[in-house]
Amino acid sequence: MFYVKEKTDELEVRVELNDENVFCACPDCGEEVSVDLSCVFADGIGDMYGTSVLCNACARKRLGHGK
Ligand SMILES: [Zn+2]
Repeated sequence: MFYVKEKTDELEVRVELNDENVFCACPDCGEEVSVDLSCVFADGIGDMYGTSVLCNACARKRLGHGK
């Protein structure tokens, strides 16, 4: 499993990553988008740092403009 680790002075917190607690900011509007990492990496070329996920509205907008 993947998890994120955050350490403060008093405690260390581990949060397991799943399809419900991973988010990124839409590169177009900045809106928070829920990300399913298994989809991002499904094609085998997923790049955790270079990948950005559009929100539904912006994805639709881009598709509508043919890009
Ligand atoms: Zn957006």
